[in-house]
Amino acid sequence: MDRMDTIKDIVQTKCPKCRKGNMFQYKTMNLLNMLKMNRSCPNCGQDFMPEPGFYFGAMYFSYAINVAIMVTFGIAYEVLFNPEDLLLTLVSVFTPPLLFAPWNFRISRAIMLYALGGIDHSKK
Ligand SMILES: [Zn+2]
Repeated sequence: MDRMDTIKDIVQTKCPKCRKGNMFQYKTMNLLNMLKMNRSCPNCGQDFMPEPGFYFGAMYFSYAINVAIMVTFGIAYEVLFNPEDLLLTLVSVFTPPLLFAPWNFRISRAIMLYALGGIDHSKK
């Protein structure tokens, strides 16, 4: 249950410490501003930038999420529609990561901060 709370808070990109403040300044659907992060938690003041370039590592989580999305949609498309055309299969594999990119970017950063940010997020 506690783990489910953590997953939910990561998906909602909440502050790892207080789980109330938002890591990002705007909602995901605000496409022009969705990448703007808060420098620190607006609720508890937790620093969201443990060191310069910290979020470079989020790229690896982003990559893993993209692979998972591509495999899931690729297999689902094959199973459901059994397409004859290779092009359609490629579209089914490479389109979903583009559509999910905004969430992927944010969630990858949240995973990075929760997993490697050195912030005690066990209490709640
Ligand atoms: Zn906080």
